[in-house]
Amino acid sequence: MSRIARLETFSTPAVGFVRVTAEDGTEGWGQVSTYNADITCTVFHRQVAPHALGAETTDIAGLIELIGEREHKFPGSYLRRAQAGLDTALWDLRGKVEGKPVCTLLGGSPGPLRIYGSSMRRDIAPDEEADRLVRLRDTYGIDAFKWRVGRVCGRDVDQWDGRTEEIVPTVARALGDEVTKLVDANSGFTPARAIEVGRMLEDHGIVHFEEPCPYWEFDWTKEVTDALSLDVTGGEQDCEISAWRTMIEMRAVDLVQPDVLYLGGVARTLEVAAMAAGAGLPCIPHSANRSLVTVCAMHVLRAIPNAGPYLEFSIENYGSEDWTDPLFVHAPFEIRDGCIEIEDRPGWGVEINPNFLANARHEETRA
Ligand SMILES: [Mg+2]
Repeated sequence: MSRIARLETFSTPAVGFVRVTAEDGTEGWGQVSTYNADITCTVFHRQVAPHALGAETTDIAGLIELIGEREHKFPGSYLRRAQAGLDTALWDLRGKVEGKPVCTLLGGSPGPLRIYGSSMRRDIAPDEEADRLVRLRDTYGIDAFKWRVGRVCGRDVDQWDGRTEEIVPTVARALGDEVTKLVDANSGFTPARAIEVGRMLEDHGIVHFEEPCPYWEFDWTKEVTDALSLDVTGGEQDCEISAWRTMIEMRAVDLVQPDVLYLGGVARTLEVAAMAAGAGLPCIPHSANRSLVTVCAMHVLRAIPNAGPYLEFSIENYGSEDWTDPLFVHAPFEIRDGCIEIEDRPGWGVEINPNFLANARHEETRA
């Protein structure tokens, strides 16, 4: 057992990594959530790190919960994003101390994971989207894809007129019956419109309808869930356990998608996953970019008993240049036969790129 002696962050506006060093010199790497990560790192040093200094490295869930109580005047996203940096660094540290991958610490094992290729684009025409998904299917053997319908918080107005009605059959037909088909509406619809779109989705074999309504309107989402037979899914933004309890108890969705880094780390994600398991609901952690969040989702999926059938894997710029490429020395994201693999390496099994660290803003909190 050792105590936390030093907490450092290395941030850009997009990404922020955390290094935790214990008194005995052992260390672990984690990540605060992406986007405005520089602001999140300021929150980290002001509202997370001071409570963590001197704490034991081993009781991760207890420490994260305690920090939430110490900062109880600050519920919401930024604190949770910052806590995720501490939580994920401590899991890495523990894995390195014990010589085990995080998934093994969580009761799972390393190995392959089926992925679904996740499109992040709405600016793309239906036939163009169909072409690139078919290409990824044929090149990498990916057998599940998610694409976008509606518009982000769109209030029933489409990205452009008729796009949803066109892209659903176009992509569904191009991918064919052998491919599992998912769509995401990103809070785009009222219940009436979502149900109308959902019926069309069912007619074209789509099995997963994500975030049909503004995500904070649990009653709206439940109305859609109750009306449709496909799986209505959601929860990526929800970062308070009480919101998750409400959502799961009322069965607002059929499948839960907590984001490890938005939610405050692995410990809190396991809490949500267990709550979902108790209600008989599967869990697929949200992982919409190829930073550490996808690595965390991989390890959680290989460990929880109610894991959904695949990992969310961003296809944006896969195989060409992407903003996430410089983050790791060897990104563990090679796709083979539609799967990626967790190797048997301690902690998260990744090394942060020294070039990224050298050029990032460095801040530290120490005794
Ligand atoms: Mg989504």
